[in-house]
Amino acid sequence: MPILLMRWRLRRRRRGSEAPQRGELGNIVTKIRDLTGQRFGRLVALTFTGMDKTGRAIWSCVCDCGTTKNIVGYCLTRGSTKSCGCWMKELRAQRADFHGKSDTRAHSIWTSMMSRCNNPNATGYARYGGRGITVCERWKKFISFLEDMGDPPAGYTLDRIDNDKGYCKENCRWASYIEQNNNTRSNRYITAFGETKTLAEWARARGMKYITLHRRIHLSKWPVEKAITTAVK
Ligand SMILES: [Zn+2]
Repeated sequence: MPILLMRWRLRRRRRGSEAPQRGELGNIVTKIRDLTGQRFGRLVALTFTGMDKTGRAIWSCVCDCGTTKNIVGYCLTRGSTKSCGCWMKELRAQRADFHGKSDTRAHSIWTSMMSRCNNPNATGYARYGGRGITVCERWKKFISFLEDMGDPPAGYTLDRIDNDKGYCKENCRWASYIEQNNNTRSNRYITAFGETKTLAEWARARGMKYITLHRRIHLSKWPVEKAITTAVK
């Protein structure tokens, strides 16, 4: 353990006297654990600045956020002080934010995403967690999920762009129910006349409503080419 030897000027005052008397200024040598340059959480100790009234070493520290603050050395070494105070402030804000959002649609969407990927007893687990669909590390915290996705617009739900990949920022979007339906495994692509397109693309290409084409193919079970070419009444 590196020790900082500090010649420390001791100033004693006679009770009641205003100024220190000549002869009462003495020198003592104090052993102080040298913390110069050491990191404690977000803080790095810069210089020893002196002792407080109770004889504890005070260190001038710089925090990752840029703030410089005097901190009792012992609080650093035992790990009770890890930032200038900014860390606690952030945690408190996050917690407040979390509670503010805990009964929103975003939160219930997050909860069901987490359970269908992780909980074997959840409805739909077989089609998600059961076939290797996972939630990325970052999104295991609701607050990060919310940061990346924002609140869902009304009528929109969480959609994975590539159905074989998991839940993460790059593979997710808020999609309307119709868009999402178009992206499910069973009806993602339709081949007709040697061309393969999504149902929505076929509908657009033929100037038809998505729902009309969907009804013809998936509900009325028309042959694909008939469904695409038959004029809408
Ligand atoms: Zn800070």
